[in-house]
Amino acid sequence: MNILITGGTGYIGSHTVVELIKVGHNVIIVDNLCNSDIKVLDKIEIITNIRPIFYSFDIKYSTLLDDLFTKHKIDAVIHFAALKSVGESVTMPLEYYENNISGSIILFEIMKKHNVKKIVFSSSATVYGDPATIPITEDFPLQTTNPYGFSKLVIEQLLRDIYNSDKSWSIALLRYFNPVGAHQSCLIGENPNGIPNNLMPYIAQVASGKRDFLTVFGSDYNTHDGTGVRDYIHVVDLAIGHIQALKYFETHGCELITVNLGTGVGYSVLDVVNAYQKASGQTINYRLAPRRHGDIAICYANPTLANKLLGFKTQFGIEQMCLDSWNFQKNL
Ligand code: NAD
Ligand code: UDP
Repeated sequence: MNILITGGTGYIGSHTVVELIKVGHNVIIVDNLCNSDIKVLDKIEIITNIRPIFYSFDIKYSTLLDDLFTKHKIDAVIHFAALKSVGESVTMPLEYYENNISGSIILFEIMKKHNVKKIVFSSSATVYGDPATIPITEDFPLQTTNPYGFSKLVIEQLLRDIYNSDKSWSIALLRYFNPVGAHQSCLIGENPNGIPNNLMPYIAQVASGKRDFLTVFGSDYNTHDGTGVRDYIHVVDLAIGHIQALKYFETHGCELITVNLGTGVGYSVLDVVNAYQKASGQTINYRLAPRRHGDIAICYANPTLANKLLGFKTQFGIEQMCLDSWNFQKNL
């Protein structure tokens, strides 16, 4: 299939591109490089021996997007392009709504115009807010507290409404838990600009000596060691989930599915610190600090539906996630 990947030079997008090429799909990427580097294309080429077709523009440029759909016969779209920092979304809500929601509307309009009705969308566990119980199943109430989360909720709703108006669409809403790790080649991974917001990239920089210590946000949660618990999922496992979603449509036709992509296992901040120390052989200095505003105590998926519908089963545990993150960090 010819698959258009929006945000394909980004962290999850680049790993998904590699897996798509591996199983024989033709990949066309559109990315405005606002949070990724064009050198990722060289890395993808080294890993796969194939250089994907690449367009560098913002998906909000409808004319350029229209031209792209005219030039290539697109069979399906995987839509990663978005701004993704929760904290930044609180200070720049308009930019987040404009980029994530307006960008998506333009993409969906152009898809409709060209009769391309197959899409896999990057949603997030953030749409569950602070769940009443765990593990989280897909039918839990949706709620969120920040513009980033709202943008995901709105786009999910847009896609549900599109499907309700025209049942010839095939739509997968994939709700990711906490993607971490890197490709085993050490060539692609997560390398945020500035101070990392997320736990594992921060730990990686402490391990490499770039930062002195990790600040552990909260040690008084009702968890086994008082620190926050999350469902970390290896980015390659996550990438494979997208290929399985596309395959699902081949066998099941037009449907809208909503699926959690997580492992079903929760690790605390200190569990991750310990696993990273073991994987890297480095000491991770940390300091306990008050809770970070907006954080919840525990979040992990019930991955049963993903397994049942997509055959999704994660292969990599926390040790491999830390090891691959470390090998990528050392290779930077
Ligand atoms: P990323 O920032 O590494 O990748 C996103 C890519 O989209 C970047 O390369 C960026 O340059 C591009 N982009 C952004 N806006 C664009 C626009 N208007 N036009 C064209 N390109 C644009 O992020 P990621 O971690 O790979 O996340 C991919 C998707 O998964 C995002 O939608 C994100 O919200 C979602 N998600 C990520 C996580 C996570 O923890 N990484 C968790 C849940 C959901
Ligand atoms: N965290 C931390 N220090 C950091 C970054 C994160 O203690 O520098 C904690 C955070 O409070 C949460 C967990 O690590 O309990 C995962 O946070 P992350 O930002 O990676 O993902 P989130 O689940 O918040 O999207």
